[in-house]
Amino acid sequence: MAKCGHCNHIGTKITEISPTGGRYKMMAICCSGCSAILGVTEYMNSGALLKQLEGKVQAVESQLGIIEMVIQQVKSILTRR
Ligand SMILES: [Zn+2]
Repeated sequence: MAKCGHCNHIGTKITEISPTGGRYKMMAICCSGCSAILGVTEYMNSGALLKQLEGKVQAVESQLGIIEMVIQQVKSILTRR
């Protein structure tokens, strides 16, 4: 079992922290006895976030493809006159 180095308490809790000057929230793993920070982890899993963004980028790209097609069609209509 992991023991707190400050109070020898066994047991942890997760606390949301906003470090001064930091732009992102972090999750701190704290001792549930004395609240000493034992470790810090990212607020959101960056891997999952990246996957989410990847999907969004793909959606935007396919939308752009459609817009390009429409522009081409409009161009061909305009040059036909
Ligand atoms: Zn402690």
